[in-house]
Amino acid sequence: MSESPAVDLTPGIPPLSRPPEELDELSAEEFLLWAVAEFGEGLCVTCSWQKQSSVLVHMLSTLGLKPTIVELDTHLFFRESYETRERLVEKYGLTLVCPEIPSIAEQHKAEGPNLWETDPDRCCHVRKVEPLVEALEPFSAWISGIRRDQSPSRASIGKTQWSERYSVWKLHPLADWDEKRVWGYIMSNDIPYNPLHDVGYRSIGCIPCTRPIRSDEEERAGRWAGSDKLECGLHLDTIDKE
Ligand code: SF4
Repeated sequence: MSESPAVDLTPGIPPLSRPPEELDELSAEEFLLWAVAEFGEGLCVTCSWQKQSSVLVHMLSTLGLKPTIVELDTHLFFRESYETRERLVEKYGLTLVCPEIPSIAEQHKAEGPNLWETDPDRCCHVRKVEPLVEALEPFSAWISGIRRDQSPSRASIGKTQWSERYSVWKLHPLADWDEKRVWGYIMSNDIPYNPLHDVGYRSIGCIPCTRPIRSDEEERAGRWAGSDKLECGLHLDTIDKE
């Protein structure tokens, strides 16, 4: 734990050793070192096997850091995402914690067939948000690879934000990275990455809700395309809602 005096923010929110605005100035590596020192075993990382996951697991490994990695496997990932997971697990010796998520058959029975078509918000809630709420219970901080330039709704995220929904500090070490920098890091360090990125999938989620995009579209335009849904709901309490 840092020797700096605790910074009290708001009553009821756990104090930090440094103010969020100061943490926002740290490089991704400095930020991860601070996070591990600050939260110790109370820290976890979520991975969905997109390009940001590749950056984070490599960077953590290079720094000698081993926070718990939580995988939210919706059972609806692309084969390429599962293969990327296997390559990263093997290369970096990762141990994954995987919260229980209802099978597709159970969901069909309880909620009706193809919930992702009839009520995608409910589907994301059942397959992503509820399992994450449970998975984060033992933790006090959660690292996610989201970036400000991914979409207008993410443009003002801080690197350190308190999440009421999950009762954890939400940490975004790559918040100020753009897509070009992500690729530069992956290529210069020869990190395994999801090959779907090479065929037009700039953002990758579940099969029914992801399509490849044209070069003139926004990075996340292929997620829930044709609907006004922009987010799965995991980050909704720490991003702009418009
Ligand atoms: S992304 Fe689609 S399939 Fe995956 S949990 Fe959300 S609605 Fe369901």
